[in-house]
Order: sequence, then C-alpha cells, then structure tokens
Amino acid sequence: MPATFKKKAAIAAIALIALGAATGLRVKAIARALPVTAHVAKQDGYNDYQGVIHWHTHYSADAAGTYKDVAAVANAQHVDFMIATEHNNLQAVKDGKEGVYGKVLIMSGVEITRKHPELHHNSYLLGLDLKDYDHKRTDSTDSILADIRKQGGLTFIAHPQNPRWQWEGPVDARIAGLEIIDKSDEWFTSPIPDILRGLAFYGFDPRIGFLQMFHRLDKTLALWDSVSEKRPFVGIYAPDFHQAVHLPFRTVWMFPKAADILPVAHDHIVTRAAFNGTLEHDKKVVYDALRAGNLYVAIDGLADATGFMFKAKRGDKNAWMGDGFETAGKTDFTVTLPKTTLQNTEIAVYRNGKEIRNGKNTGSYSFEAAKPGAYRIEVRADMPAFFGGARRMTWIYSNPIYIGVSQPLPQLPGLAQYAEGEDDGAAAHQHGAAADGGKICPAGQDCAKADQRKD
Ligand SMILES: [Zn+2]
Ligand SMILES: [Zn+2]
Repeated sequence: MPATFKKKAAIAAIALIALGAATGLRVKAIARALPVTAHVAKQDGYNDYQGVIHWHTHYSADAAGTYKDVAAVANAQHVDFMIATEHNNLQAVKDGKEGVYGKVLIMSGVEITRKHPELHHNSYLLGLDLKDYDHKRTDSTDSILADIRKQGGLTFIAHPQNPRWQWEGPVDARIAGLEIIDKSDEWFTSPIPDILRGLAFYGFDPRIGFLQMFHRLDKTLALWDSVSEKRPFVGIYAPDFHQAVHLPFRTVWMFPKAADILPVAHDHIVTRAAFNGTLEHDKKVVYDALRAGNLYVAIDGLADATGFMFKAKRGDKNAWMGDGFETAGKTDFTVTLPKTTLQNTEIAVYRNGKEIRNGKNTGSYSFEAAKPGAYRIEVRADMPAFFGGARRMTWIYSNPIYIGVSQPLPQLPGLAQYAEGEDDGAAAHQHGAAADGGKICPAGQDCAKADQRKD
C-alpha cells in the first residue's frame, strides 16, 4: 500500500473520530439545556394525565414486545396511561392484557386497515374502547364505523399525512378525530438533513435525536382545522412504535425501543375525575376525556408541558379545551403555560386554522373573542440547534374551544383535496349542507356538558 494512501486513510479516520466526539459532546450539551423533569398528574383542581395512543406489541404481526414490558417502561417514566392499537385484531383485550400495571393504566384497541378498490392505497383508522372487532380489511368503512358506534367506541384517523397511507375519502361524522402528530408520518415527511441528524444524534441521546425530526404536519393540521370549524374533532398524538425492524434470516432488531420514544411526546388529558387504580373506572376517565377532546398534545422531550391549560369563560359558564359554547358571543379565553426554563416561548392563537394573535414570553395569556369558530393554541419555543443558535418548534398543541360551532357535519373532502398551501375553500362551499340545527357530538359525547362545566 502506498504511504500516501495510508496517510490519507489515517487522517480520514482521525477526522471521523473527532467528528463523532464533537457530535457526542454537542448532543450532551443540548440534552443538558433541556432537562427532563418528572411529570406530576395532580394539578390545582384537576388532573393532568399523560399517556400515548397507537403503539403495537407482538399481537401485531409486524411488531415485538409485550404488554408487561411496555408497562414496566411506562412506570419508570411516570406515564399514566397507554393505549395500544393492534393491527386488525382485538385479541389482547380478549386475553385480558388490559389492566393497571403498577401505576400505569394499559388499554388496547385496534388499528384498522381500509383496503378498498375505490381507494388508491390502504389507509388506517384507530378503533378504541371496543369489546369486539371482527372485520375484514375489505369491509366497508361504513359498516366498521356503524359497528364501532354501536359498541360506544371511538374512531380516529391514523396516518393522515403518510405519503403511502394518507387518508382518502370523506371524514365521516362518526369519526371522533385524527392524529395531529404521527411519528411514522413525521419520519416519512422529514427533510433528509433532519433525518440524518436525527439518526446521528440517536446513538448519543435518542430523545435529542427524535427532536430533530419534529416539524409541523401542515396538511394534517389543515384537515383538522377544516373539520373542527364545523364540529368538534379531536387531535391526538401517536408514537406508533413497533419495536421491530425485520432483518434477513428472521432476525428482529428492536428499534425504536419504547423506552427511547416514550419520553419524546404525550397526549395529556385534563380531567376532574382522578384515577382510582381500577381498570374499569380509570379507563372511563381516559375515554371520556378523549371523547370530549379535553386534551393537549405536548412535545415533553423539549420540556415537560404538564400544567398547560386552555380555558374559556362566558358569564358563569366555563369551557376547557374540547368544550364550547353553542352560540357566538363575547368570550374570555385564558392560556396558562407550565413553569419552564425554555427560551422565547410564544403563544399563538388559531381560529379556524388562521393565526389571529400571539403573546410572547408570557406565563399566562388572556384574550377576548366573539366570532364563531374553533379556537386552538400552539405554543412555540426554541430548541438549541447543533451549530449554536436555536430552531423554532411547536411545543404544545391544544385541542380547540368551540364557539358557535353547532352545525351538523357535511361530508367533508378528504386530505387528498388539500394540496400544499391550498386554502380551506374546498370545505367552505359545503357549509350548511343538510343543516337541521342539531349539534353533532363525536361518538356518544354528552354535548350539554360542554356548556355546563363549573370551574
Ligand atoms: Zn404496523
Ligand atoms: Zn400502527
């Protein structure tokens, strides 16, 4: 081997090692700037339970891991509830895998594959709070939704923005909501540099690695906003972890691990009722909050968002995120931020998907509004960037408070009609179709409750 080649190889090796070491040091510095604090559910006058919805175990053919193992991880991380969704089967429920494991409530539902000739590709729904599920992938969406409704269950759109499995077709009135962040969609829609940086960081600190890939799923949010300006439509977070990458020779690499993905983000339900440690009771607390949309989604990997609250008040009536007032009229809104060390937090108020105002660097923010619509909050903050400086990201997404949103749901166009940057005009012209003046409540929600919440 010529001496010059050896020399070049040695220089390259040293450069690589130096780059690796520098990356490691920088990742550790970012992790130190974003300390992990333990979540406490008990808040002043209510509970903030954090959990995740949509993940898999060996009950799904393409996943690994057991309920017991995932529960152990969740306990170690102060996660309060976990809802699995196994591919097209409810066997885990029948096998009695639901239960309170230590301090964590474990539930299970189904991820439904829609495989219809009229669709260009498969798309997916989550079915929760079910006792039975016996459908083929080719069964009509209508028959599946009817069955879930009959059982008093809940349906969410999964993978709304996945390039391969995006939602197609109308958003049926029986669908309670959608995933506003799905880890799999996020992975497939992240810019390549973010994915590379994420993977490079993953080895040093998985949480910081995952944070590199967070971006606003704009089409998903546009779909959420277009439906929720007409009727309550609940936004949730989904990690969709499988803990399995299938390699040749029947080997399975447990990636990404539940322990690595769980600290990144959570669904936070806000509820007056406290868990009492029994399955049936606590399950109802979670599903009632999900039905009502009394929840927010937080990237807790950036900073623990526990303590965030979005409320509205009109006279002596109060509403939390997910609730609303049936008529338009002067309403006082309040946003409370958790105590945090994050820099440059900013509270953005959206009405029907349009940012109408924002408050900077503030722990609590109040505003007044009267126009009908769905009002929701996004809290933005800075994440330290690799070469110094900071990158803006959304830290918290609240569910909307609905003002005068009482129209029945017309058959809305699916996501496919929402081209990049397109306005919500496509949905707007269907406004008022088949109006009978009644308020549509998602999947058995008690509509009256929204207006009667006593704070
Ligand atoms: Zn899967
Ligand atoms: Zn899944």
